[in-house]
Amino acid sequence: MAKKTIADINVTGKRVFMRVDFNVPMEDGKITDDRRIQAALESIRSVISRGGRLILASHLGRPEGTGYEAEFTLKPCADRLSQLIGKPVGFPGDTVGDKVNAAVAAMKDGDVILLENVRFYKAEKKGDAGHAAKMAQLADVYCNDAFGTCHRPDASMVAVPRAMANKPKVCGFLVEREIRYLSEALEAPARPFAVVLGGAKVSDKLPAIAHLLPKADHILIGGAMAYTFLKARGIGTGNSRVEADRVEDARRILEQGGRGSCRIHLPSDHLVAREFSEHAPAQTVKGEIPEGLMGLDIGPATRESFAQTLLGARTIVWNGPMGVFEWTNFAPGTKRIGEAIAEATTRGAISIVGGGDTAAAAEQLGFAPAMSHVSTGGGASLEMLEGKAFESVELLDSA
Ligand code: AMP
Repeated sequence: MAKKTIADINVTGKRVFMRVDFNVPMEDGKITDDRRIQAALESIRSVISRGGRLILASHLGRPEGTGYEAEFTLKPCADRLSQLIGKPVGFPGDTVGDKVNAAVAAMKDGDVILLENVRFYKAEKKGDAGHAAKMAQLADVYCNDAFGTCHRPDASMVAVPRAMANKPKVCGFLVEREIRYLSEALEAPARPFAVVLGGAKVSDKLPAIAHLLPKADHILIGGAMAYTFLKARGIGTGNSRVEADRVEDARRILEQGGRGSCRIHLPSDHLVAREFSEHAPAQTVKGEIPEGLMGLDIGPATRESFAQTLLGARTIVWNGPMGVFEWTNFAPGTKRIGEAIAEATTRGAISIVGGGDTAAAAEQLGFAPAMSHVSTGGGASLEMLEGKAFESVELLDSA
């Protein structure tokens, strides 16, 4: 269901507690990729440009939860944000307590502060209500713009908004867009609706397949997960990566697919190699993969038949690369699929790319800008494709 956004709230003079995802990659205390900070800028600017007092909260990495750890401080993010918005960003150096209360009390309209890493307290991961109440009393409005953490019941995601019972609770623009594409767009998809799944592990994607099978017209399976399905069909997979304990699940899904109207497409040919190595020469094999060889990408005939299906689709969801795209020899499958989805999008299809490795692949191969939506959350985006409801989103005010 659609949720109210920060644009629906008159924030002038109000204190807004905004949970963002500043969990950026760092090396030696320096941010190596600030895209997560950039992704929250629209919501941040919306509050400060209207004279709201913005209190930002985020986690970074996985600290012990027993207090300050220099490796996980959010101070570099405060500095980077300050550069991006061209104004000071206060950093009280704690998440709750006297220093934070004093910093918030001193805020003027349009000011921004960033609290210290919420995971410096064990209470954050525990979803502790008493701890959350201390954060909740800081603000008049709650805003969730942390899509990458939406599937987690952490205190700042769930207990804080719960403690703000009679105050407005809304989503930021990033979360609003993710919900619109990953959930609402798939409730009544324009047809044909094609789902492309790949990546390393079939076990990670089984719940998403089960949820999408009754909704989709085509499920195209590539990546290492295809070999578990081929095995379930009794086709030889040589030394390819197969999850033996998932073959039965794969067989069940193929049977279900056979009974319904969704067609499950498996690769008919492969790029294979003798060893799992970047410079191993790629050979093409059709059908069975002989012993001693492992499948590392879909083959040329599969590329073309998958591409043709995608070019005819009007809604496309893509999660998981078709092969070991990080290595040039085994990137052609992922490249061709990305190209076909990009072309389908220019012809009017809605294309939704899952986060994590698929977003990285789309970015690396240059297709990201051509897609309708590239999700910013790995785990959260997959759970949304599994049809799971997120408490952190459910409790926000409906539009
Ligand atoms: P996932 O995180 O499950 O989406 O998996 C992404 C990873 O799967 C990428 O790092 C790929 O290199 C890897 N991958 C894709 N196809 C294969 C394959 N056929 N064999 C081994 N790894 C693969």
